[in-house]
Parts: sequence; C-alpha cells; structure tokens
Amino acid sequence: SQTNELNKMNIAIVGTGYVGLVTGTCFAETGVDVTCVDVNADKIANLQKGIIPIYEPGLEDMVLRNVKAGRLHFTTSLESCLDNVDIVFSAVGTPPDEDGSADLRYVLEVARTIGANMKKYTLVVTKSTVPVGTARKVKAAIREELEKRGESIDFDVASNPEFLKEGNAIDDFMSPDRVVVGVESERAKKLMTKLYKPFMLVNFRVIFMDIPSAEMTKYAANSMLATRISFMNDIANLCELVGADVNMVRDGIGSDSRIGRKFLYPGCGYGGSCFPKDVKALIKTAEQNGYSMQVLKAVEDVNENQKGILFEKLVKVFNGDLKGKTVALWGLAFKPGTDDMREAPALVLIEKLKQSGCNVRAYDPAAMDESRRRIGESVYYAHDMYDAALDADALILVTEWKEFRLPTWGVIKKAMKQPVVLDGRNIYDGDELQEMGFVYHCIGR
Ligand code: NAD
Repeated sequence: SQTNELNKMNIAIVGTGYVGLVTGTCFAETGVDVTCVDVNADKIANLQKGIIPIYEPGLEDMVLRNVKAGRLHFTTSLESCLDNVDIVFSAVGTPPDEDGSADLRYVLEVARTIGANMKKYTLVVTKSTVPVGTARKVKAAIREELEKRGESIDFDVASNPEFLKEGNAIDDFMSPDRVVVGVESERAKKLMTKLYKPFMLVNFRVIFMDIPSAEMTKYAANSMLATRISFMNDIANLCELVGADVNMVRDGIGSDSRIGRKFLYPGCGYGGSCFPKDVKALIKTAEQNGYSMQVLKAVEDVNENQKGILFEKLVKVFNGDLKGKTVALWGLAFKPGTDDMREAPALVLIEKLKQSGCNVRAYDPAAMDESRRRIGESVYYAHDMYDAALDADALILVTEWKEFRLPTWGVIKKAMKQPVVLDGRNIYDGDELQEMGFVYHCIGR
C-alpha cells in the first residue's frame, strides 16, 4: 500500500464491458498493471485467447499489445487480485430497473466482494453511471462486510464517471475534454492524480470535486445532450409543417457561440445504452426527492415519438398500405461505429414494419450478429447495402455509417422495385435523388 503508491501502479477494473475494457486497456497503455475482472466466464476465456467481445475501433490492437507486454490480465476472480491492487474500479452495468431508476445490484455486489476479501487499504472507484448517493451505499456495503469479518481496514471511495463515446472510445479516453473525479480524502485524490498524470501531459484537466457533484455531473451531461437532440427533433418536426429547412436552421443557430454546432442534428431518435437510461434515472432521482424534472420528461416524450417518425413517413408514402411491401433497412446499431443495439431506433422500426406485414432486408456493417442475438431471423440479413435494396419498395437509412454516405444511386435504383428513400439522418442530397426519380423524404425539410 503506502509504499506501493510510490512504485508501479496496480489496478483492477471490475466489469469488462464497453467501459471496463476500454478503461483497463487505456490505463495499461500508460504503463499501469491492470487486471480486468468479469463474472462472464466466456467473455474472460475469450479475452484470454485474444478474442475481443465488442466492436470498437482500435481496441483489439491495443488489447493484444498490452497483454503481450504483460500489463493487461483477465480473470473471473476479483478476490484473487485484491491483494495486489491499489485501486479497484467498478465499471459494471447499471441497467434501468422496472421503474426507471438505476439498478445498483451489480455495483453493490462488487462492493460486498471487496469488503469481504480486502486485506489492505484500497481505493474503490465507481466508474459506472450511478445516481447521487451511490458512493455512500458502496461505502456502507464495504464497511458492513468488514464488520462481519471483525476487521477495520482503511479504504476510500471515489466517483469517476466515464464520458467516452462508443465508436470513438479509445480517443475519448486517451484525450478527453476533462476527467471528473469526486473524492473525500487527500489519499484518494493523490492516487487518482497519479493514475491520471500521463493523460495530463497532453493538456487536459482533471476536475476534482465532492462525490455527489461528480455523480450528478454525469447525469447532467447526458441529460443536456439528450435535451439538445430532442429539442432539434421538435424544431425539425415544426420545420416540416411550416416549410422551413432544419439543416439551414441548424447552421443558423449553430454558428452562435453560445449554442455551438455539436449535437444539433435531428434524426429518428436517440438510443443506446446511456441517454435513455440516464434521462430516466435522473427523472426518477428527482421524483424520489420530491421534485419533477419537467424538461427531461418532455425530452423523453419527444424521443419516443421520434422513434416512430420514419414509420409514419412510410405509411404516408404508401397511403397506409404496407402489407407485403419489402423494406430495405440500412443500419441497425444505435449509432455508427458500434455494434451496440440497446434501445436502437432500428428495433422500434423493425417491430412496426413486421407488425404491418412488411418484409425487412437489413444491413449493418457491425451489428448483424448482435441483431441476430436480439431478434433472430425475423429479418433478412443482407450481404451488403446493395443486396439489402434488392426488390425493395422503400429504402430507409437509420444509422449514418460512413459507408452509407455515398451510394451509387444508379445501382440502387435498378435494384429496387420502387425508388423510395427515407433518410432518417439527413445525410443525402434530396435534390439529386429527386432528379434521379427517387421519392425522397428526410427529417425536418
Ligand atoms: P456492459 O454491459 O457492456 O458491461 C458490464 C459488464 O459488467 C458485463 O461484462 C458484465 O458481465 C459485468 N458484470 C456484471 N456484474 C459483475 C460483477 N459482479 N463482477 C464482475 N463483472 C460484472 O456495460 P457498459 O456499457 O460498459 O457500461 C458500464 C457502466 O458505464 C454503466 O453504468 C454505463 O451507464 C456506464 N457508461 C457507459 C458508456 C457507454 O458508452 N457504454 C459510457 C459512459 C458510461
């Protein structure tokens, strides 16, 4: 412990999902000795064989390199590595409960395992997105286990919420805008400063604060971003009704430095593992504290509605007669650069299409296996984007993967039965498509 703080850092990351694996691998890259822990034995066995469970650009190389260098290890046993580490990060899942609040089962399970097995000072850092007050519960759980053992070993808790984006996770982690760390002791602050020092060399800030503020920061950030998306979707829908073009409006407002250009893209709704869950959880936290998050409730409503918007447009194009139509679907992942389909708008669309008797021909560069796992063979999985368009009555772009940006429209038109394109992300040139004889609809124009 104390002396170890002066030497090589040893840390454990519990939960080897998107966040845990990226976090562990990036810390290993800076020279830290990292043990990644997961209860999923298959996942760990695969990682030990060099098989990476998720699609994330650049991750595989970095994992293999650090394993080879002997700095990155995988195990199913947290107990077995506790003796050797200074810091344990908890990056396990915090899925929404039935009532929308964050399910802390896994977070507290990890805390109890630590309390039941630690033999020396340990800093326990929660990296998962957890509601305000969770660090207090983690602390209590560890203390309770220690008491059961009749031990009074010193430990600290800290909060270090993660802001990486799937699809750009390595860059986000290696050069983040900022790192937020909530601490309540100097010792914890020192350890976290040491761990993040290599990143500070490239000019970014570690913002230290108290633990509740750090926990809140993560929810406030995601809620703000979700709010911008729903706000723009609302504006886009109104643009359609009044004959304005949301792309022009976006340009017009985005150039105002108070507003900024990012996260102003209308589309077919936000999805993913974070925005829907975190917005719900913050609404719930407010409720539990006798307060109502009015803005966020509207953000959710708008988003639910927006996930149905492409389907509504399709219904209009075919005057409500969708039975037997073949629909090509480009993109299944909730956003480009990932195979993650949690809360993906594509799932809502597929469900509606199937219910109306449509045949769906789907293509996604990364998420087809994930889709098979979720919805089986209820859609046809195309070999490529052109195969998806074969004999289709309509083509719907759901996820704006780069490879969908510049299709050879002549080939697409020949392949399709009817030249109908619905652009859920406003990435195509409508004039060009209409000149070629396509029926083209997008969002907010
Ligand atoms: P994930 O589902 O991909 O990974 C979670 C992992 O934890 C799984 O592999 C699971 O097997 C493992 N696990 C569960 N209980 C365990 C236990 N007791 N011991 C060891 N391992 C256990 O989740 P994720 O997307 O990496 O998200 C993790 C947390 O980070 C969540 O709170 C999430 O909100 C937050 N977060 C996610 C992102 C993102 O982009 N995915 C970004 C920022 C923050």
